[in-house]
This record gives sequence, C-alpha cells and structure tokens, in this order.
Amino acid sequence: MQKTWKKDGETWLYCPVCGKEVRYYDICFNCGWQNTGPINHDGGPNKLTLAEAKEAYAKGEVINRFLFGDKAKNK
Ligand SMILES: [Zn+2]
Repeated sequence: MQKTWKKDGETWLYCPVCGKEVRYYDICFNCGWQNTGPINHDGGPNKLTLAEAKEAYAKGEVINRFLFGDKAKNK
C-alpha cells in the first residue's frame, strides 16, 4: 500500500515510478505515470506496466507519449 495524505482537500501520494508528489489517480507531471491509488496495479490508463515504467524512467525514456511526445524530459 502507498502512503497517502490530505492537502488542499485532495488526497496525495508519492508517484510509484519517480517518487514525486502526485494527486490520487492523477497523472504525474514529472514522469507521466497515472497512479492507480494506494494499491498499484498494471494496466488501467497506462500503456506500460509499473515495472516497465520504472525501467523506462530510470533510462530516461518516455512513459507517456500522449503527455510528453517523443522527447524524454530527463535526457
Ligand atoms: Zn512520476
């Protein structure tokens, strides 16, 4: 289970891919992963599995082409 907390009336958690703060079920502005709440599961709105997304992020590859196009942010 992910740790969650309340801020400005919204529930927040740490992105399971990059560790940045992100709202519940929102798309991470840093890496593009859409979290699935306190229990992470693969699929859903994400094209990659969580393991694939972590690997891609570690290599500086794009997780969410819809959000970032083909350019990786951290390259
Ligand atoms: Zn992230």
